Amino acid sequence: MLKKLLPFVEHVIKKPVWDCRMCGQCVLHSTGMTCPMTCPKTLRNGPCGGVRENGNCEVIPDMQCVWLKAYAPSRIFIVD
Ligand code: SF4
Repeated sequence: MLKKLLPFVEHVIKKPVWDCRMCGQCVLHSTGMTCPMTCPKTLRNGPCGGVRENGNCEVIPDMQCVWLKAYAPSRIFIVD
């Protein structure tokens, strides 16, 4: 029963917040709480070479590159 309930609860919480795809290999903790599976190319190790000058995605021009979103929170701790 619990085995079925936990993924359901996980999905109910994570889908609206992080657009979770239930990939089973969650890396939110190491990608600035941004899900790399929302990258149209599903890149899991960093941005492609097509990030536009304004930081938006080459595949979905209205969307900010997922990897820039993932990187942004880490900038808070960098002292220039
Ligand atoms: S620009 Fe960013 S979000 Fe778009 S395909 Fe490339 S890595 Fe993925």
